[in-house]
Amino acid sequence: MTEIAVVGAGIGGLTRALALQQRGIAATVYEAAPVLKELGAGITISPNAGRVLDHLGLGSEVRRLGVLPGVQHVRDLARGKTIRMMDRGQGLEERYGAPYRHLHRADLHGLLAGALDAPIRLGKMLAGVTADGAMHFADGSTARADVGVGADGVRSVVRDALFAGAPPQFTGQVAWRGLVPVERLSADDAAAEPGIHIGPGRLVLRYPVRGGALLNYAIFVETAEWDDEGWSCPSSRAELLAHLPGADGLVRRMVEATDDAQLFKWALFAREPLDSWVKGRVTLLGDAAHAMLPFLGQGAATAIEDAMVLGRALANFAPDEALRRYAAARLPHTSMVQLQSRLIGLAFQGKDPLALGQ
Ligand code: FAD
Repeated sequence: MTEIAVVGAGIGGLTRALALQQRGIAATVYEAAPVLKELGAGITISPNAGRVLDHLGLGSEVRRLGVLPGVQHVRDLARGKTIRMMDRGQGLEERYGAPYRHLHRADLHGLLAGALDAPIRLGKMLAGVTADGAMHFADGSTARADVGVGADGVRSVVRDALFAGAPPQFTGQVAWRGLVPVERLSADDAAAEPGIHIGPGRLVLRYPVRGGALLNYAIFVETAEWDDEGWSCPSSRAELLAHLPGADGLVRRMVEATDDAQLFKWALFAREPLDSWVKGRVTLLGDAAHAMLPFLGQGAATAIEDAMVLGRALANFAPDEALRRYAAARLPHTSMVQLQSRLIGLAFQGKDPLALGQ
């Protein structure tokens, strides 16, 4: 029987192992962290990912755990006035035949992990891999698989070991993420419908998770500087508010109600699409393959799609053919989404997307 190793137990790696499990194919998952966990932040599952989760038998739990937003407002950041309203409710589900929901990341991750029978080997930090599927870990242990899948995220060891690629470029944008218990907001602020707030060089995304008990937000700010070394750095309300002069009260009060301990910032780095995703018997999936800027909310959604396509390919074809078909199906599509996310980021900075690359 083909031995399959998945490196990384994030949303992509777990969905990948579940897609194999559904077809009776076992995989071993190797995860660097000593315990399974996810960031305290929200995630939007759009219908393309919802369709895969439905297919894996998890759709009813996604609908139960997630918040169905109804509408999404696009508001002017300074005045708070609605510029546009988009249907994000039941109409969207009827149109695409799959759920659109806002979830707490830990709830989605826990759902995937709970459905998985495959062994998850924790504390296994991959240190190196070769194209024949031989892996060695930071604790000195080794393992070998017939097919290796790097689902080890944006700083993928598998990608760096086997796939050349240009280093990531700082985009001139920094993002903050925060979570606020809704009980800390006034009744009017708590009832305000979700959406985005846009202003020059700034974009605010806010939506409820955990049945509406928590308000999740991400705030993107254009800035020339990024001095911090870390990937997800602790921040403070004062630092974030200094980037929001003139912002509408709804946004400012939401930030003011956040605990500093719940506020993190990270720099946005853009990566070019890779030329190839297959080296011998090893491939990539999710952020490891196509890390993208967050402006389309499609990073996890495309990882979930990758997982299903690779699961189907391995169930129906011999490994070499399966990997070839997987990359042929997914690389052009995810490269397009990667570039579109970047164009939207440029447009939000007020730059001409057509000038990209000039
Ligand atoms: P990850 O989730 O990064 O998982 C990688 C796993 O590999 C981790 O468990 C890590 O510990 C492990 N690992 C790393 N290195 C090693 C190693 N050397 N050895 C072993 N294990 C290793 N996407 C959406 O679709 N919708 C959204 O609304 C959305 N919102 C987002 C909000 C925020 C704040 C952020 C940061 C991202 C958001 N994204 C969203 C993007 C999405 O979160 C990512 O694209 C997605 O999590 C990628 O999943 P992944 O499994 O590929 O990688």
